This record gives sequence, C-alpha cells and structure tokens, in this order.
Amino acid sequence: MSQNQVQSTVKDALVELDKRHFIHPTSSLKQQQESGAPFIFTEGNGVYLTDISGKKVLEGMSSLWNVNVGYGRKELAEAAREQMEKLAFTNSFSSFSNEPAIRLAAKIAEITPGDLNAVFFTSGGSESNDTAYKLVRYYWKLKGFPQKTKIISRRKGYHGVNIGATSATGITPFQEMTSSLAPDFLHVDTFSTEDLKECIVREGAEKIAAFVAEPVQGAGGVNIAPDGYFQAVRKICDENNILFIADEVITGFGRTGKLFACEHYNVVPDVMLLAKGITSGYIQLGAVVLTERIHQELIALSDGVLLHGYTYSGHATACAVALKNIEIIEKENLVENSRLMGEELLKGFKKIQEEIDIVGEVRALGLIGAVEIIDPVTKKRFPTPISPKVSTEAAKRGLIVRTVVFEGMDTVVFSPPLVINKQEIEELLAILRESLLAVENSL
Ligand code: PLP
Repeated sequence: MSQNQVQSTVKDALVELDKRHFIHPTSSLKQQQESGAPFIFTEGNGVYLTDISGKKVLEGMSSLWNVNVGYGRKELAEAAREQMEKLAFTNSFSSFSNEPAIRLAAKIAEITPGDLNAVFFTSGGSESNDTAYKLVRYYWKLKGFPQKTKIISRRKGYHGVNIGATSATGITPFQEMTSSLAPDFLHVDTFSTEDLKECIVREGAEKIAAFVAEPVQGAGGVNIAPDGYFQAVRKICDENNILFIADEVITGFGRTGKLFACEHYNVVPDVMLLAKGITSGYIQLGAVVLTERIHQELIALSDGVLLHGYTYSGHATACAVALKNIEIIEKENLVENSRLMGEELLKGFKKIQEEIDIVGEVRALGLIGAVEIIDPVTKKRFPTPISPKVSTEAAKRGLIVRTVVFEGMDTVVFSPPLVINKQEIEELLAILRESLLAVENSL
C-alpha cells in the first residue's frame, strides 16, 4: 500500500469510530451520521491547521475564539512538561496551595483593570459563570440581603452550558434544549439601558444580585456596544446596588485590541470572568476575578467554609501554562498586533461590502469581527440563512469560519489567532471574498 492509501484507510477507520463513539459537542447528532468525513486535525502551526489528509487551512476562528497565541507553541508544551514532571496537580482546597496557582493569581491581579485583585480558578467559561452567580448571591447573603438573588443578562448573550450559565444565556435555542432552567434569571435587550432600568424597577433592585454581560457579544453574532452603553450600565448598577459581572471569556487576553475589553469603555466590573485565551486553549482553565473591596468584605463577613470548589480549581499544570501564555502575549506585543491587524481586517471587510451585494453590515473590534448576509433586493435577511453556505465555500478554499444563525441572524464571524500577520489577513480576506462571490452567484 502506498503512503496515501495507508493514510486514507486510517482516516476511514477514524471516521467510522467518530460516528459510532464520539458525541460531538454543540453539533447535530444526525448530521454527524449522515455527512461525509469531519475534519480530523492532526497538526497546527501559527494560524494554520493541517488535517489527516494533509489539507492545510487558515483558522479564522482560533478554534473557539481561544487559541490567541496560535498553534504549535513549543514554549507552552515545555511549560506543561516542566510542571508535570515536578508536580502535575495537587488540590487547592483549604490549606493546600501550589506555586503556579499563586503566581498566576498575582499576575491576573496585576494585569486586570482597577482594583480587580482576587482570583477563584475554574476549568472553563461555564464554570466561571456558575461560580460567579453563586459568589455574588453568597456576597449579598453575608451582607444581610439574602433576597438579592436575581441575575440579569442580555438577549443574544452567551455564557456557557452549565445550568446557571445556560439560564443566563440569552440565545433561545440553547435554553430550549431542556425544559427546566435555574430560577431567578432575567433577560433584557442587548444594548437598551432603558430596558435594563425598567427590568430593575419591575423586579425590585432589592431582589437583584448582579447584571452580567459580555463586553463584546461573541456567540450571539459579534455585537459591539455603542459608545456610552457600558458606562451607563456601570452607573445603573452602582445606583441600584447591583454588581456588574463582565464575562470576558472571549474578549480577555487581547482579543479586542486591549488586554481586556472593559478597557475600551474605562469601566471596571465588580467581577470579571475569564477562560479561553487565559491559556490560548492549550489546557483547560478559567477564572473569576473579584475586586479588592468584595474580597475583603467576603473575608470579613464569612465565618464558615466557602463551600464551592472544583477538584481542578488552581490546577498547577494549567496555571503554569497560563503564566507562559501571558508571558508570550506580553513579549510579542500581541494585544497591539490584535489592534493593528483588526484594523486591516475591518478595512478588508468594508471593501468586500462595497463590492458584494449580499454583504450587509460588517464590524470588528481588534481581531473579533462579523460579516452579515442580506438579501440585496429586500435589504433584509434571506428567509433561510445563507451564511452556512459561505462557511462551506470557505472551508473548501482553506478557511475556517463560524456562522451565527440563531435569533434570525445570518452572520459569518471571525476571530483569528492574535499572531496573524498582514499577509495572512489578506489571504483570509481573499478566500472570504471568493466564497461570498461563489454563494452570490449560486443564488
Ligand atoms: N462565556 C462566554 C462569553 C463564552 O463565549 C463562552 C464559550 O464560548 C463561555 C462563557 C463558556 O465557556 P466554556 O465553553 O469554556 O465553558
């Protein structure tokens, strides 16, 4: 058998096993059985991935908005290996601790804005959300307001898939998967401060623990707040004794051209949620960061045990990888690169928008962006979403993108690794343009 034949036999066998045994997350179970071979990626380098048949693709999404420092970083593998050889893991409950977790908590306190200063570690974004919802309710309870339990979040917001995070998520299909959600979650319009105020009046500020929002909504279609929105939110929360939780799971660690997206608005949240870019996806990790004030109040008021902790909270290897990942982001000026390459991306989107009629609004902030698809005749969305066709055409041409088709949206979204250079941005734009033209011509 030739090398190629061997490879295709291995691939066929893996595809068969995939269908039979691997339940893919957030995917159509039927489609997995009926469709052809999935991409089985075997290698990554910079902004590119290679699959088992040797096909190389440009990763326009950093996988799930998270591989910020790009693929194939040997420094991160080395950091994990060194830590694993010394001490892979030990738990952090009660009086136990470890050096990477301590150093990472201190580093996060140093780089996050304002007085954000104390860190609770999780294994990802959903856990960070559920942890935050419990911590803010615990905080109010200790302060003598046990009735302050409600969490307000926004429509089109995405906060993960644990029960609390699903309940906060404002994308209806995620909520409809099961018929029972956590109580005490309320949703308001994405950018309406009026709706937020009305909700507070209707429910009573004395019953509301926190408002949670992504500084830029990611999974809901890359929705960037208008000027003044988050400053107004901060004020409304302060006036009503409501804590503001910023879910920076996607936007943290340089994605938007600032280290944290809250910095665009000069707003410091009471609680910041992190995951994804904290390790660039090389290993699972998340964090909930509290301000000095909240941390001190919790210390002063709590006399029992904080009965919330994951086995892997403060995982030594994950924390060692995060420290090295943050060092790379700083050393290689990746936040500035995100800002500069983001400008190139947006310029390119605008050119495409001028040329191609099915392109509606385009937007980007740093290296997170979106291209909306519209019917050029009606100037409205097509009755059936077209963006999945764009993504299929792009994949054929060697570009991975995602689409958002919930809530009547028809949007192609982008979030390439922060190491992307100008030439690679041009390649991404060229493939996007060709894919859009191919779809437009097929309509
Ligand atoms: N919060 C936001 C803003 C996210 O985008 C995500 C995932 O995409 C989550 C939370 C959930 O994170 P995870 O998938 O790591 O649980």
